[in-house]
Amino acid sequence: MTSTLLRGRTLSFVRWPETIDDHSAWRYEEDGGLLISDGRIVASGAYAQVEEQAGEGAKKIDHRPHLLLPGFVDTHVHFPQMQVIASYGAELLDWLNTYTFPEETKFANAQHGRRIARLFLDEMVRHGTTTVVAYCSVHKASAEAFFAESHDRNMLNIAGKVMMDRNAPEGVLDTPQSGYDDTKALIKEWHGKGRQHYAITPRFAITSSPEQMEMAGALCREHPDLHMQTHLSENHAEIAFTQQLYPWSRDYTDVYEHYGLLGKKSLFGHCIHLSEREADALSQSDSVAVFCPTSNLFLGSGLFDYQRFRHREKPLRIAAATDVGGGTNYSMLRTMDEGYKVIALNGEKLNPFQSFWQITRGNAEALSVVQKIGTLDQGTDADIVVLDARATPAMRLRMETVQTLAQELFLLQTLGDDRAVREVYVAGRAAKSDMAN
Ligand SMILES: [Zn+2]
Repeated sequence: MTSTLLRGRTLSFVRWPETIDDHSAWRYEEDGGLLISDGRIVASGAYAQVEEQAGEGAKKIDHRPHLLLPGFVDTHVHFPQMQVIASYGAELLDWLNTYTFPEETKFANAQHGRRIARLFLDEMVRHGTTTVVAYCSVHKASAEAFFAESHDRNMLNIAGKVMMDRNAPEGVLDTPQSGYDDTKALIKEWHGKGRQHYAITPRFAITSSPEQMEMAGALCREHPDLHMQTHLSENHAEIAFTQQLYPWSRDYTDVYEHYGLLGKKSLFGHCIHLSEREADALSQSDSVAVFCPTSNLFLGSGLFDYQRFRHREKPLRIAAATDVGGGTNYSMLRTMDEGYKVIALNGEKLNPFQSFWQITRGNAEALSVVQKIGTLDQGTDADIVVLDARATPAMRLRMETVQTLAQELFLLQTLGDDRAVREVYVAGRAAKSDMAN
């Protein structure tokens, strides 16, 4: 097996960086090396040392002066919404009824699902994202299309067929039994196949009947190692409607709690308007709150209180995500640019190291997959993004005055997008340049 030796400025996080000077929170090599063999990073560190281990046969690729980081992780995204993104003029519930549900009916057609799955993963790779947690449509075929495409590319992705049996058009509804059966069949076929992970995916409390919520809880009990993903507390009208549908519940979170859906592998998209009790319940169960800044701004949903959630007595585990198609960009750089502004509106700041921690190691920790992805550590999968802070004329000009790594990262986040992504490695394979050919 030929190995590959990458050279560049390597940056990988060890833990959450408390401040901009918290140097022991990351490893940075001005002249770094990564030795890749059989899809994994087998050596990582100063180039001279890694080169020694590489031996004669390794294929050398010099990415200097660019930065090598772990591939970005997007923890909440809807792959069937590529033709919904940039739809004008609605808040959450109208947006779902007017744009999203009609669009998702198209995924009954397997051929359509395969086409969009291919284009979706192309788009993710172009933007430097090597792992996504994806919602498919209600149709089993949409999840099959997604996993087949993901498996072909050898990407570590997490996805699930949406379960929804009410409050939506006929073409996007299942039943409690068919949702359960299709989920079981998909788990059997795809979970653990190569790098594929299945996520149990009740869309949210409004589109699932109590019977279906019971079924989702049963699936979580039968498969405690699987992820569960849903939406929580995004919008005031959504919260009020949920309260009407589940009149016995103490609050929105209580609905999911009641059906046994909280836990350390449970991902809750949005979490904007949580009460203190709800935040406590998420914290005590080690559940993950997923911050989707471009979506929350676009739909006018509200401001996720990132720093308060981190600093409260019972802190929340937090992930960050695009939430395309409610989100407005595929890029995790654009996402954190908007995230910075949301946090600023709450009177706080997120420093650039914290930001890049979040979209690499932080998101991998939130998904409990940090042993495999999210760092450049030896033994992990070789999912790597190569970033160029001089990708555009405006970035080049601004770089003339940049003196520190923190400034460079902040520039990448503020002005960068897919143009700043020079290359992407998926399990050691150069995937972005591959696609261009
Ligand atoms: Zn969503």
